[in-house]
Amino acid sequence: MHDPNCLFCKIAAGEIPSRKVYEDEEIFAFHDIHPHAPVHFLLVPRLHLPSMAHAEPVHAGLLGRMMVLAPRLALEQGCRPYPEGGFRIMVNTGQEGGQEVQHLHMHVMGGPRPWLKG
Ligand code: 5GP
Ligand code: ZN
Repeated sequence: MHDPNCLFCKIAAGEIPSRKVYEDEEIFAFHDIHPHAPVHFLLVPRLHLPSMAHAEPVHAGLLGRMMVLAPRLALEQGCRPYPEGGFRIMVNTGQEGGQEVQHLHMHVMGGPRPWLKG
């Protein structure tokens, strides 16, 4: 459930400060400390799952809720609506997937990119 040595468990529990985007009983979202886009936040389940490689059928509802939440939060955080606006969702998984924090998280990145035409 809660891994006392895990950074994102501590952030979701409020033990380490973060800039909160959203929270409910199952999900916590906060701004990435090193943003790669004008809008860049992380969605994490409160449940400590080390990575997407650990997802089982029992987690499908939770992961589905995170996916459905992402567009709503992206708009709230300043992403423009589809199709002109938008965002990307990224889930780094494992060493070769570029994962650095071993608690499953979805990056949501978007926002106005004036260097793109149109
Ligand atoms: P990963 O490479 O595991 O997919 O991404 C981990 C992300 O967590 C990175 O983008 C990094 O900037 C972010 N991060 C790492 N430590 C902290 C922290 O203490 N607070 C916040 N808000 N983000 C963090
Ligand atoms: Zn954790």
